[in-house]
Amino acid sequence: MDAFWRAARRMLLFRGRLALAIVMAFVSAGGLGAGLLAIGPIFQAMIDQGRPLPDLAREFNERSPIDIPAGLIAALPADPYNGVAIIIAGLCVLTLFGAAANFLHLTLSLGVVERTVARIRREAFGAAISMPLAAVSSAAGGGADVVSRVINDPQQLGVGLGALLGRGVAQLSKGIAAFGAALAVNTRLTVLTLVIAPVMAVVIRKLGKRIRRAARRALEHQADLYATTGEALAALRVVKIYTAEGREASRFKHANREALAQVLRARTARAMSSPIVETMAIFAVAGLALIGIKAVADAEIAPDEIVTVLAALGVAGASLRPLTGIVNDIQHSTGAAQRLNELLARDAEPGRDRDLPRLPRHSESIAIEHASLTYPGADEPALIDVSAEIRAGETVAIVGPNGSGKTTLLSLVPRLFDPGAGRVLIDGLDIRDHSVRSLRRQIGAVTQEAVLFTGTFADNIGYGVPGAAPAAIEEAARRALAHEFIQAKGGYDARVGERGTALSGGQRQRIAIARAVLRDPAILLLDEATSMIDAESEAEIVRALAELSRGRTTLVVAHRLSTVINADRILVLDAGRLVDQGTHDELLGRCDVYRRLAERQLVRADG
Ligand code: ADP
Ligand code: MG
Repeated sequence: MDAFWRAARRMLLFRGRLALAIVMAFVSAGGLGAGLLAIGPIFQAMIDQGRPLPDLAREFNERSPIDIPAGLIAALPADPYNGVAIIIAGLCVLTLFGAAANFLHLTLSLGVVERTVARIRREAFGAAISMPLAAVSSAAGGGADVVSRVINDPQQLGVGLGALLGRGVAQLSKGIAAFGAALAVNTRLTVLTLVIAPVMAVVIRKLGKRIRRAARRALEHQADLYATTGEALAALRVVKIYTAEGREASRFKHANREALAQVLRARTARAMSSPIVETMAIFAVAGLALIGIKAVADAEIAPDEIVTVLAALGVAGASLRPLTGIVNDIQHSTGAAQRLNELLARDAEPGRDRDLPRLPRHSESIAIEHASLTYPGADEPALIDVSAEIRAGETVAIVGPNGSGKTTLLSLVPRLFDPGAGRVLIDGLDIRDHSVRSLRRQIGAVTQEAVLFTGTFADNIGYGVPGAAPAAIEEAARRALAHEFIQAKGGYDARVGERGTALSGGQRQRIAIARAVLRDPAILLLDEATSMIDAESEAEIVRALAELSRGRTTLVVAHRLSTVINADRILVLDAGRLVDQGTHDELLGRCDVYRRLAERQLVRADG
């Protein structure tokens, strides 16, 4: 439950509300305590006309450290009936106050719990989004597991926190108030009763243990019965031939008797428990009654005090009993708290340290040196000792069969994954020694599935440049050849994906291209879509990408022959290895992997 308490401590963030909620719980419980204190005078009024209120007040002053002022006592009615009427009226007012306090306690504590849950959820999302990509994709169930941790676990934790701060505090404060009332009325009697309570608790526990143990033994003997019966019947042929029926029957009789004895023992313990507890309770009450009556006879205690103490202790017991259910709730949410703590304790991805120097804008080269990478949990490496140097402004195509490591190679540049061995240098600087933000800020990417977010066209294009001017967004869209269809679909402020704005694969791609254009990256990473684009869109996308990559260092995972032919250089990957590099014609002449790819897999859009 350690994890739970650590999470519960988060509620201290809302100290003021938390304190007020607890105070309100105690105010409400105080009403209950006062009500219990009023039992005495009312009871007395019932049996013998009661005593005047001023007498009661003076008596109270003798016992209590806080005095009722004499002026107030003088104002109290001397007539006992009026006195009780005042007490009852007071109780009604107190009940109203108690109800209001109760309401305030519950609303305030629910507020604290929900705010804490929302905050933890926010932190969990923050931790999840700054985790290294590898951590998310390798978590069991991938992203779905993380989603559940961010959404479900805080909610589950909230159940426990609610139980603690709501019912837990309410019941505890009521128990304390009732107990306090009993103590205030008669300390000796209360303490005496308290001595009996643990004795009863011990007896009840012992009985419970006995019942459980006997039940377990009974089950074991039942298993014996199964074994004996099964064995005899499985070997029935042998039993019959050896005429051993009598022996088997007596073996069974023996096992059966044992099982019966155990069941009977469990039955005894079970049947004993409630009579024992009840008898003990009656004896306890009888003992208390005897002690009480003796005390009354000796004029040490008033009869109404006995009634009040017993009633108050009964209320205290009834208030505290539900706490076991609350403990259960808390234990339930401990699992969620543990998972959340794990998530929150996760290291953020490297390179987020504020002290790291910024990477200057790329202007010379990108060098991948002896990079190898094995995904967490994978058996085979995705990249094996890949080295390549790309000059600034060059367009390099990466080709290879499915699963050969093209996407992985591309993801080394923005440091989505760090190579297990080897390094990536930009303009001769190791990217691991620089802030990952300053690295990514210079990179634009268009991925295979163009990812669009909820929001308008303008939001989606401006995703990488918060606060971009509408004119800049429109310019980017024009250069990505997206302006026209955006106009047709209701303009830049229309929401993407809503009625009438369903987009084709090609249109989504062009939005993604516009997003990259707006960011004006020095480095461009393209993962060409393999399919789903009609011929017309295809031609436009090729033009848009050509426009985009002008003057930028471009790495493109190529699936189209046209892209490959237009590239300055082609890298050929096969099973994680860089097997060759060169121009289209060079590779056709000497590289088998490339020739096969060019013949079978590269899409010939333009003949
Ligand atoms: P390509 O883009 O050439 O099709 P990838 O770079 O996507 O190939 O993948 C290379 C290899 O690494 C494949 O065997 C693939 O199954 C594996 N792989 C890719 N991404 C992950 C990942 N997140 N976790 C584990 N294995 C991965
Ligand atoms: Mg890929």
